[in-house]
This record gives sequence, structure tokens and C-alpha cells, in this order.
Amino acid sequence: MCLTFGAAAMAAENDKLRATPLSIAATCFFAIAISVYLIKQFFSKSKRSKPCYLIAEFKPQYKFKRVLADNSYSQFKHLKLHAADSVAEEEELNLHPYKGEISRLMKNPNVGILELFDGCEKWSMEMGGEYVWVEAEEQLRELVADLSNEEVFAVDTEQHGLRSFLGFTALIQISTMSKDYLIDTIALHDMMGLLRSVFANPAICKVFHGAHNDVLWLQRDFHIYVVNLFDTAKACDILSKPHKSLAYLLETYCGVATNKLLQREDWRQRPLSEEMIQYARVDAHYLLYIAYCLCLELKQLENENSSPGDKFHFILEASRRSNATCLQLFAKDIESCTGELAASSIVSRCLNDPGNISPSVCDEKFQELVRRLCVWRDLMARLHDESLRFVLSDNAIIALAAKIPTTEADIYSSMLEADSDVESVTMVPLQTPSPVVCSHLDDLFCLLRGKITKLDDILQMCIREHLGQGGSCPLSAYNYALLSKTTLGTGNRIIPNHNGFRASKQVAKMASRQLFVQKFSCKSPVYHNCKIYASDGRLLCYCDQRKLQWYLNRDLAKLVEEDPLSIMLLFEPKGRPEDEDNDFYIQKKKNICVGCGEGNHYLRYRIIPSCYRIHFPEHLKSHRSHDIVLLCVDCHEIAHTAAEKYKKQVAAEFGIPLFIRRVADLDTTQNSPTSLPASCEEIGVSPLQLRIAAMALLRHGPQMPSQRREELMQTVMAYYGGREITDEDLEKALLVGMSPHERRRFEKKRGYTFKHLRKSSNPIDAEEDIGGRPPVTIKNASHNEDEDLLHTNTTDAYPQDDGNILDDAKITAPCSDDADDSLSDTKIVSGIGSISISSNDDTSGGVNLSNGTTHPSEENETLLKNDSKMSLLGHGPHGMQVVEYLLKEHGEDGVREFCQRWRHVFVQALHPRFLPGGWDVKHSGKRDFGEFSVYKPTTNASAAAIAG
Ligand code: AMP
Ligand code: MN
Ligand code: ZN
Repeated sequence: MCLTFGAAAMAAENDKLRATPLSIAATCFFAIAISVYLIKQFFSKSKRSKPCYLIAEFKPQYKFKRVLADNSYSQFKHLKLHAADSVAEEEELNLHPYKGEISRLMKNPNVGILELFDGCEKWSMEMGGEYVWVEAEEQLRELVADLSNEEVFAVDTEQHGLRSFLGFTALIQISTMSKDYLIDTIALHDMMGLLRSVFANPAICKVFHGAHNDVLWLQRDFHIYVVNLFDTAKACDILSKPHKSLAYLLETYCGVATNKLLQREDWRQRPLSEEMIQYARVDAHYLLYIAYCLCLELKQLENENSSPGDKFHFILEASRRSNATCLQLFAKDIESCTGELAASSIVSRCLNDPGNISPSVCDEKFQELVRRLCVWRDLMARLHDESLRFVLSDNAIIALAAKIPTTEADIYSSMLEADSDVESVTMVPLQTPSPVVCSHLDDLFCLLRGKITKLDDILQMCIREHLGQGGSCPLSAYNYALLSKTTLGTGNRIIPNHNGFRASKQVAKMASRQLFVQKFSCKSPVYHNCKIYASDGRLLCYCDQRKLQWYLNRDLAKLVEEDPLSIMLLFEPKGRPEDEDNDFYIQKKKNICVGCGEGNHYLRYRIIPSCYRIHFPEHLKSHRSHDIVLLCVDCHEIAHTAAEKYKKQVAAEFGIPLFIRRVADLDTTQNSPTSLPASCEEIGVSPLQLRIAAMALLRHGPQMPSQRREELMQTVMAYYGGREITDEDLEKALLVGMSPHERRRFEKKRGYTFKHLRKSSNPIDAEEDIGGRPPVTIKNASHNEDEDLLHTNTTDAYPQDDGNILDDAKITAPCSDDADDSLSDTKIVSGIGSISISSNDDTSGGVNLSNGTTHPSEENETLLKNDSKMSLLGHGPHGMQVVEYLLKEHGEDGVREFCQRWRHVFVQALHPRFLPGGWDVKHSGKRDFGEFSVYKPTTNASAAAIAG
């Protein structure tokens, strides 16, 4: 091509100059010289970069012909049962193919489940040497035929994660009452669909222990959907077992000890070691018998707890909860900007605890380099189908960004040093630097020298150089879609929105929505998914980085893994979350909309409106992470609208109006007898009306037609008990019910300053300083008292203030649900026959309020003492009274039941399909670890203790 171009150019020249043989020879020589130079350049470049390690390495997943979840940025597509009639709209829906079957099972669960296990006792109690290793298609077909004749079988899976981007199923263990099968899912990967029918058959019960992840993994790898599940962990929940780990059940019911550390072995290896085979078999073999024992206990509980007329079916409840797990859908984590989560996590880790690097190093340039390296790592991991950790450790990224090494030797030594002090939790040895780094050092030079700075260009470069024509790395089923489908552009990748809301929106609406998204969506990933392990290697919880750092700073834990950042506690915590009803806290949380899976933007949504929640007893408030979810703008709007509607229903049901109806000034009304006249409705005025009147009078009073002014004056006077009013009174009236926060916003928005109140002793002024929430101080984390610290995210991850942004944006009058605002000296008239109460003995500037409620309450006094900061213009007073009523009439169970109602409203409105595992409408928020702290699953001592 260069040659042709050169020759053509020369020919043009020649026309003008009238060619001589010499000049032709010269130009030809010149053209050839250029070409040779270019070719040499090309070769020298490819000589410089070593060939990609994958050219010489064989990875088992490269044999897979059909890969359902590849490493591209497009969302996972679920199985379509009726492909023919799926229109474009439905295509986008990506629904659960067996939703109908599962819902039906949940409504009419299998009544005769106990009989299913007849005979399992004899079979399970000894595990002989025989098992069937299934590795050929014919064997798999036989297995399917065998399973079709069973009414029940047990299942477990083993995964491999280190040398794969999304992870894959390396083994499936299936046990019937006569055989243990180990299915080599690597050899049979492309044939596994054969098992779809038995797994989806509602007439065959599948027993798992803790099926949450397995259910998703089977969908991800094989489009296998579990229908009719009995999850022994769910049965443990209902039985309130002290522990619900499989290790505990094996010890208790079967007297079998198991070493859970084996779950982290490299399950790709073939042949599997004897020990691994034994471990894998144990995980499934005893499940039928364990399920049988648990069902017997459930039956027992049923007999003890129900009268003939009112039978509570505990077994059915276990079955119902199990099948709810099956409704989950696998979804890929899609960040709006590749590598963003990791980068922000690394940067904040460095800012919190600079460790080896000096704080001055953690500057903008450093942060920028970290970001670039994270983008590169993410993409290289996708390209080569490796885990992030395998490509480059967080520590190595920090070292590279801090030292900016320029030679190969420097790069190597920085990485070696960085990785030397990290003790790995994985059993698989790690190479430092990784083969990915070694064979693509050119990229690192490029990034470190700042030749490529735009994140987008890094993606472009990598894909072009590595996968494009003549690219350096092998194409595979995992990375092909990256090449063919990635439109590139980190921020504006088109990701299908499964609910199809977008398609129906008008262009103008789209634009304003876009603005809204920009303004209000979370600016960085909400969930960091850092892990906390117990010393036996069992996962205790996911949390954000701050919490992790807290333990590290106090030497209460050691860093064991950096991607994701994980620590191991150096003390023995009480119990394990999986043993309690708290699966939710050990689920990794995705930064996506829980409604539709949108990953490009999301905002926090409070399922239980804050006007209620802020008045809950403290211990019921502490587990917020369950009831604050991420939603995209579209889903947020749907959920919010439903919640507002339901609030009205609550208001009607409880007879507690949403807004305060009347306020009156106490100074003026306190001369009246303590017991108010029967019709206290006649006293005072609505706070909003009062404010409008006061505002108008202050601003335009003198210019107003006298009739209008008189009307407005009457309104204000109604508040002051009919007395004459001054300008100061007007300003005071303007502030009635407004919190300092609202007041500041008001001053800013309307450009109004309160001249007359500046120097007054009005208590509102004293509160002026209350700005943002004070920083959260984490209490003493002695392992006895602070499970909360272990299991829920701190306020850091869930700032109170942006959950209700949508509310704020929609309501024009300053109106806040949140009670971080203050108004002292508030007095409430709680309705007919109630008395006026004071939160403060000081009599100056009191306000007398009427909520028009029909619930007389002598205890109102205590309410406002605690909540004197509440704004009276929003739903705060309504929420307070509802919660007060619930607590008084039904105690904390009333509050819990109320929460369940809100979760139900949320689920009904949105039908969310991406809720984190363990999320439950019935979530109790109870976490009790206290009594069982001695439990250590792997020690014989405790096995003996449990057995004895
Ligand atoms: P299990 O349900 O215990 O058989 O675990 C199934 C798979 O989950 C294992 O093969 C591992 O790949 C993975 N897994 C479970 N727990 C852990 C853990 N604590 N660390 C690493 N991998 C785990
Ligand atoms: Mn297992
Ligand atoms: Zn490569």
C-alpha cells in the first residue's frame, strides 16, 4: 500500500518534471527505502513484545465451544424457551424462563416431601468406595435417564475462579439414594444442557445446601434453572438452628468432619486427588439424609405449634423459601466505567492508610495512574480470561503508580516487592509478575510513560493491539464479543435496559432524564465488596473499605487478599452469619439497579421511607443495608410513586394525616386553659399556608392591594392567636416548621435574609451550625458487642442525604423527610381532646401544632424530646406518630411487620429481578451471635462437644 501510494505520488511529480531515467531510478529507490524502513519498524515492534503466554498455555475453558457468559460488557442473556414468539420487546426482558413453574410451586408446594426421603437413611449413613465419574456424553445421557426416574436428588457444585474472569463450574456432584455421581463439567461443558430438563422438572425435588450461588452458577454456565428446590440451609433458618453451615450439619447428623479449606483447591485439576474426591462426594452424599432429618424436625415443630384448625406448615415454608432462591437471575457486574470500582477502592485505601507510600505520593498523578492501570488490568483479565488478581495485584498497581519504574528490571522488582508481603488465601500459587504482565510489558511502559492517557484510548489500544487483525493474543469464546461488540467509550456503552422503559420515552424527557442522572446518581460505586474472613477461612461478611481499614488499623485483622480486598480477623468472632438467618450479609452486592440490572447509573433508594425509619428504635435501624438498594432513575420513579401512594394508604389506615394540619404559637395560646377547647381544629393555621402568607407579606406587603393583605394578615394572626403582628413575627412565622437546613436552602434559593431575627435569641439560631451529619464514630469494636460493625455498611457508604433526592427534586416547597434538622420548642396538639405538650420548658417562641390525628396520646411528650430536629413541613410528624402508634400497640414486632409491608409494596411495584441474594421481604434485622461463639467447625474438640 505504501508502495502504491509512493509510486502514484512519484508519477504525479514526474508529469510535472518530465521524467528522466535517473529521476525514476532515484524515486524508486526512495520508495523502496521507505517501505523497507516501515516493514523493519513493524518487525522490530513485534520483536520487542514477547508473544502472548496464552499461545503456549492451554487453559481448560478454551475447549468450551459454547460460552454463555463471555467477558464482554453486554448483559447475560437468559434461556428463551419460546424463541419463536419472542418479539424485540420480550428479547429485552430477559426474564426467568421458569418463573411460572416456580411461582406455582411456591403457591402449592409439595406436600408429601417427607415421603421423598424414604430409605435415604440406610443409604446415606455409610459412604462406600463406589462413585460414578461422569466424563463422556454417553454417561451423561445415562445419568439424565437415571435422574428422570428419581423423585429427589442432591446437588453441589465446585467452582474455579483464579484463572477465569467470571469463574466456571469445574465439578457437579449429584447423589441419589443409590449412587454418587461426580460430573466432570469441564469435559462435558458443551453437553451440560442435557441436564436442563431434570433440573427444571417440578416433579423432581433437588436438595442443595445454601443454593444461592449454585443456582446462579448453573444459569451462568449451562442455562440450567433449578425448579423445585429444597435448601437445607433454609430449613435450618426455620428451625432456628444455632448454625446452618454444612460442616455443622454433617457433624451433627452424620458424625462426619469436613475440612472446608478444600473448597479453595484448584478444582480444574484432573485427575482430582483422592482427598478432593472424598470432599466433593461428602458435600452431596449426606444431603438427602440431612434433608430428611430436618424435615422430621419441621414436622415435629408443626405438630407442637398448630391446633387442628390452624395448621402452620413449616415444611411448606422451607420449600417456599427454597424456591424463592430459584427465582434469582444471574447478572454480570457492569460498571459504568471499566475498572472504576477497583481504582476508587485502591485510591481510598492509599488515602486512608498510605502504608509504605508517603502521603505526598498519593497525588493526582498517582491516582490517575492507578485508574489507568485498573482499566488495563480489567481489560487484560477479560481478554485473557483471567481473574483480576491473577493479572496484577492491587499492591502491584500501587507500587507501579507510586514508583513509575521505567525499565523492565525496575518494573519486575517493584512488583516482586509489592507482592512479597501478602499472604495469599488461595491455595493456588501465584506468579509475580504474572504471565500477562510479562508478555505485555509494552502496554505497561506505554501507560506508565503517559503516552496514552485517556481511559477510552487504553481500551481502544488494547483491543486493537491484542485482539484486532494480527493481534498479539489468541481470540477465544470469552473475548470475541469484546472485539466484535464493544463500541468502546467507557462512559457511554450501550447496555440494554431490560425493562424497556427507555424505548417508550420522548426525546425531551430523555434529555432531562440524562441531566437528572448526571446530577443525582451515585458518583462512585456504592458497594466495595471487601471481605472479612474468620480465622478458619469462612466468609463473615462483605463490607466497604472503611470498615476493613478500621480493623487493620487496630491490628485486629491481617490483610489476606487484595482483590477483592480481604482481611482475616485475628480474634474469634461470635458465630458465623451463614449460621444465622443472615445470608444477606455474606452476599456480594452488585453495583447495578436491583430492578432492571442497569449498571451505568444508579441512586440509593430507601425501601422503608425515612419519615418512618428515623423514628425506629436504634437497634432496628442498624441493619440498613438490607433496605437501602440501588435503583436506576426509571425504577426509582416507579418505586417512589408506589411508596407515596402507599403512604396515603397508611395515613388513612392509621388516621394520621401526612401533613401537619395546624400550627399555633404557644406564646399566644398558652394563656388559654391547658385543656384545649373541643374544636382545636379552629386554632392555628396550616404551616404551609402560614409560610406563604408571611412570605408574601414580607416581600410585597406594602405594594399589595389592601384586601389581599388583610386576608394574608388574618392567616398569620390565626397563628398568633389573633394578636397584632410585627415584622419580626412575620419572619418567625416564615420559619415555623422549617429546619435550619431548610431555612438555609430557602435563604439561598429565594435570596431572603432574616434581618429581624439575626440577633434574636431564637433557638433556631443556636442550631445554625448543624450542617451535615457529624462524622460517624465507630464504637468500640470489641468482638462481643459489635457485630453490627462486622455486618453492615457504615453511614459512609449510605449517606442519609442522597437517598431521597428524588423527593427533593420533585417537591418545590422545602420539604424533607429526614430528621437531621432542628426546631426546638415545638408543641404538638395531637388532636381532639389531647393536650398541648412541650419539648422544652423554655416558653419562648413555642409552636403549637395539630396533626388532626384521632389517636390521642399522652406520651407524645417523649416523642418530641427525641426528635426536636424534625421538620414539620414534610411527612416527619406523620411518620413519628405512625411509629409511635405501632410501638405502643404492637411493640417491635409491629415495626417489623410494618417494614415487611413496605418491602412488599416495593416488590409489587417494581418486581425487582436483581435483588442481592438473601434479600427477603421477611428479613428480621435480628442478628444474634452471642451464645455460640465457641463453635469452630474444623476442630475435633468442638465436633466432640457437639456430638456429646
Ligand atoms: P461449597 O458450596 O462449599 O462446595 O463451595 C462451592 C465453591 O464455592 C467452591 O468450589 C469454591 O470455588 C467457592 N467457595 C466457597 N467458599 C469459598 C471461600 N471461602 N473462598 C474461596 N472460594 C470459595
Ligand atoms: Mn462443595
Ligand atoms: Zn495476551
